[in-house]
Amino acid sequence: MLADHFDAFLLDLDGVLHVGPDPLPDAVDAVARLRRSGKALRFLTNDPRPTRAEVAQRLTRMGMEADIAEIVTAASATAAHLQKRAVATAYVVGSRGLREELRGADVEFVAQGQPEVVVVGCDESVRYSDLRQAVTLITRGSRFIATNPDPTFPTPDGPWPATGAILAAVTAATGVRPRVIGKPSPPMFEAALIGLPRGARAAVVGDSADTDVLGAHQAGLTAILIAPEAPSNVQGGDPRTPDATITTMAGLFSPREPLHRPLRLTFPWPQEIRPGVAAVVLDERGDVLLVRRADNGLWGLPSGHVELGETIAHAAVREVLEETGLQVRVSRLVGVYSEPESQVVAYLDGRVCQFITASFACTPVGGALRPDGVEAVAARFFPVGEMPTDLLRMHPQWLADALDGLIGAYR
Ligand SMILES: [Mg+2]
Repeated sequence: MLADHFDAFLLDLDGVLHVGPDPLPDAVDAVARLRRSGKALRFLTNDPRPTRAEVAQRLTRMGMEADIAEIVTAASATAAHLQKRAVATAYVVGSRGLREELRGADVEFVAQGQPEVVVVGCDESVRYSDLRQAVTLITRGSRFIATNPDPTFPTPDGPWPATGAILAAVTAATGVRPRVIGKPSPPMFEAALIGLPRGARAAVVGDSADTDVLGAHQAGLTAILIAPEAPSNVQGGDPRTPDATITTMAGLFSPREPLHRPLRLTFPWPQEIRPGVAAVVLDERGDVLLVRRADNGLWGLPSGHVELGETIAHAAVREVLEETGLQVRVSRLVGVYSEPESQVVAYLDGRVCQFITASFACTPVGGALRPDGVEAVAARFFPVGEMPTDLLRMHPQWLADALDGLIGAYR
């Protein structure tokens, strides 16, 4: 049975152990049985508002004894994350519970001056002046930390705005995305693993493919989904595919439940997909144009984003002109590339984008080599046999596809 494979279980609360104030079928018995078998337990909630003591009391009232040290809320995980990084000062937009957790991690709340971080959690009494102060501090250099990303929480009245809605306001005004601590981000699971023996086999049990399953896989843990049936809209390789699906917590003890090998993510999970372009510019000798990128010092094909309102071919021509000063015309499409290992880019401002890059073969028609110094610190033509070794990861393949005369390569 599934329970035998693991030493520790990281249990999501809402939708796994209870819904609102009522325990779910089998949950109370299953928690007791896991305890009797000597399993370590952690109780995880993305709700940053309650203290861990309040969550423990709520579980105990429902018949599931829990120690404060076993509870991990988005607020306590944020506190653990800041403590690990020795962050001492914060400006906080959040609940009493969040403040209590941060105080326990020796974080001082700063009303004047520049704190190291701005922490935003769900605050039901948030005011314009709170948002204004958060925006000002982030603009001046404080790091932007979010307890959790959830845009709403469910109520009998329908969805109400939660942390994500407040984050959106701050991001809209600053252009900065927060470092998110709660599920599906790895810090929440790192906080849950604190205190477990090294090498303990841990599984996450949750009811959301997008947060619990994805989060488990980002943290390198096995993911068990509670759902009426295995999800059909995800496919192999998608990190939201659970390693096992059970209908209630009793499924942990069923002899029939199969367990797949947990998937390991090799790239940061993107928040958006953007179109990009690359240009393989060959001169009359067949030499290829490369630029040395200002951001990482590597050589690569001229490349960039597609801007609003332009075609991909125009974007390729514009990028070559902007980066190198050379005017080119597009001769043909070589291929379209999306492989996440090289096409997912994490930016300093917190954005993580996956690019779908169209690569074009191009011919010079005018201009003169003049690297712009901003994106490209150098630009020159290289004979194909004498390419630099410090070349961007996928660019040798893209170049090979162009030289092979492939049309419609895709990866
Ligand atoms: Mg849940």
